[in-house]
Amino acid sequence: MKKIGLYIHIPFCKNKCPYCDFYSVKTNNAEMDRYTESVIKRFDKYKDDEIILDTVYFGGGTPSVLGTERLLKILNAVNTKFVLDKDAEISLELNPTSHNLLDFSALKEKGVNRLSIGLQSAVESEMKFLGRKHTIDDVARVVKSAQKSGINNISLDLIIGVPKQEKTSLKTSMDFCKSLGVKHISAYILKIEKGTPFYEQRENLGIPGDDEQALQYEYVSEYLEELGYYQYEISNYSEKGYESRHNNKYWKCEEYIGIGPSAYSFYKGRRFHYERCFEDFYKDVTVDDGTGGDEEEFIMLNLRLKRGLIFKEYEERYKRKISETFINKAKVFEKAGFLTIDNKKVSLTKKGYLVSNAIISELI
Ligand code: SF4
Repeated sequence: MKKIGLYIHIPFCKNKCPYCDFYSVKTNNAEMDRYTESVIKRFDKYKDDEIILDTVYFGGGTPSVLGTERLLKILNAVNTKFVLDKDAEISLELNPTSHNLLDFSALKEKGVNRLSIGLQSAVESEMKFLGRKHTIDDVARVVKSAQKSGINNISLDLIIGVPKQEKTSLKTSMDFCKSLGVKHISAYILKIEKGTPFYEQRENLGIPGDDEQALQYEYVSEYLEELGYYQYEISNYSEKGYESRHNNKYWKCEEYIGIGPSAYSFYKGRRFHYERCFEDFYKDVTVDDGTGGDEEEFIMLNLRLKRGLIFKEYEERYKRKISETFINKAKVFEKAGFLTIDNKKVSLTKKGYLVSNAIISELI
């Protein structure tokens, strides 16, 4: 049986954050009921397949706004309609303002063993700028209550590159994460996405320039390592053994099923997705994105990981050696300090991470 990841998109949020481009609509009980039933129906498509789920990820949107009862319904269906690995990682994203809707013990009982919480910053002015409605006390409360219920694998999200953010404020946020004993931190540079309120105001927001953001990124990656979180991907850090297994599937170019509007799948060699539209999802209309998992994709995704591209894995998958052209180009970047290469692997350095897109596209 093939091991597969399952991503379930929960496209509801209490409020829309001005920087966010993820697909979600305002919470609405009737719609959330209908949506829950529809997600469960979509599972039927896969019920005769020879697969075993070793990761399940509830992302969004804000999965926590669904509340315990609907989440348990979905988890029950996951258990009955799929074969679930006994050590499956089951992650749930949550917003600190909606944690009171959740019964962590009941969710843990049904297999939830990892939480990803949107902190973004522990500094009030930065939270305000980002339109976040929670306080650091809310975050501390939710982390402690999850830990008390026995869910210890917790990740907090941070945003780098907020106006007026300085090393001291970044340090405050990182120290706060450490003080809560979380195992994983994701730290993304703020991107202004088209179609968001921030995009409309982009000239007046005072977002730091690329160089300043790069310095902040470097500082974050160094300080998190000092705190005991090692960097395993461009924007992800964890204590040893607490890397996100689900997200690692994406970066290792492994297959997964995505359920929900805007969710992407890579399954049986093909990539496809649902549009950002409820009605298409309810009618199960997907868009075919063609064959997935070719050499270029494999190289591009693996280079996001700190461990880099492992030549043996490439050779086993594609039944040939990596090209001389690739190696020669990589050696040029190595001289410039952007990557390291030996006879087993090639991996980007911290300096390389900052310009990863440019380097990867040159390499492939
Ligand atoms: S950042 Fe999270 S809570 Fe805010 S709008 Fe986006 S998905 Fe919703």
